[in-house]
Amino acid sequence: MGNQQQRAYNFNAGPAALPLEVLERAQAEFVDFRNQGMSIMEMSHRGAVYEQVHNEAKLLLKQLLQVPDGYDVLFLQGGASTQFAMIPMNLLTPDKVGGYVISGAWANKALQEAALIGETKVVASTEGDAYMRMPQPHEIVAPENAAYVHLTSNETIEGTQFAQYPTRQDVPLIMDMSSDILSRPIDVSQFDLIYAGAQKNLGPSGVTVVIAKEELLANSPKTIPTIMRYSTHFKNNSLYNTPPSFSVYMVNLVLQWIQAQGGLAAVERNNQAKAQLLYHAIDESGGFFRGCAHKDSRSLMNVTFRLGNEELEKAFIKQADQAGFIGLKGHRSVGGLRASIYNAVPYENCDALAQFMRQFQQQNG
Ligand SMILES: *Cc1c(COP(=O)(O)O)cnc(C)c1O
Repeated sequence: MGNQQQRAYNFNAGPAALPLEVLERAQAEFVDFRNQGMSIMEMSHRGAVYEQVHNEAKLLLKQLLQVPDGYDVLFLQGGASTQFAMIPMNLLTPDKVGGYVISGAWANKALQEAALIGETKVVASTEGDAYMRMPQPHEIVAPENAAYVHLTSNETIEGTQFAQYPTRQDVPLIMDMSSDILSRPIDVSQFDLIYAGAQKNLGPSGVTVVIAKEELLANSPKTIPTIMRYSTHFKNNSLYNTPPSFSVYMVNLVLQWIQAQGGLAAVERNNQAKAQLLYHAIDESGGFFRGCAHKDSRSLMNVTFRLGNEELEKAFIKQADQAGFIGLKGHRSVGGLRASIYNAVPYENCDALAQFMRQFQQQNG
């Protein structure tokens, strides 16, 4: 397992913890990759060695998510935020409306970008519940001329996650999975396009994964810049221009690590057990800790909670920091506390945090 002792208990929201095994493997291969006498970062992206890594990552992602035939995987740059713009630029035609499910901060950002490009409509919103829950499928009503309906699988800031996705209506579904991709099995065929920035659950920052139907990727309007067209990247196997080669390489290592864990079913079991440790500590605290999200929308990735007052929250963060627990401060827009427990965060670290929470309560309750 390496020097686990020297590693922090990392609960950062993103960029976030990577598996220690992946970091050690990257370290071992860093200077001389596959006997090439150079690092993967120093190689041509047109060469056979890089292209093999690129294609391995694509194939492994398809296998792990059981991506059906007729879909392709793109490796793009600019983060999930660039997808907020690329989606309407490519798909929101003037006669149509982009439908947005507004479940929190990230959904709102996606909507704001689309509104700069075309006509949008909020097709469901949980603003009335301060975004502390995900909408029920029946709350989502899309207009007939919807180009698509956009969902956010996991709201990273609020700590909410769809327990069950809305089943397919007669409109294409698009989903931002930046903070929970590969955390559990999903039925990709329910969606026309899924995207995720890598830096939470897939690898380091710098690469964004797009998984979409080929027919959708092939037909971008010629009126938008070449680099912003899905068709450009689709037709060139994401090698139209220089890809973020080191990030793609790291994603490939993370995918291999997931495969070695036993795939997504095993990863999901582990994620449920990890989240349960923390939600138990919250629920059994008799109100000392209060979970932010409604129970049926609780995220397995971002556990958000509060204490009685902000002084106590500050003291918690300070003492946690001294004990080696990093990244527990809630997002500045919502305050409180947040433990981000993506795939790479070990069960033992969640257990240690749950124990720290009980100890803090004993001393301050
Ligand atoms: C982090 C995050 C984003 C933004 O990702 P960038 O890669 O920084 O643009 C978008 N959506 C969700 C759900 C996120 O968690």
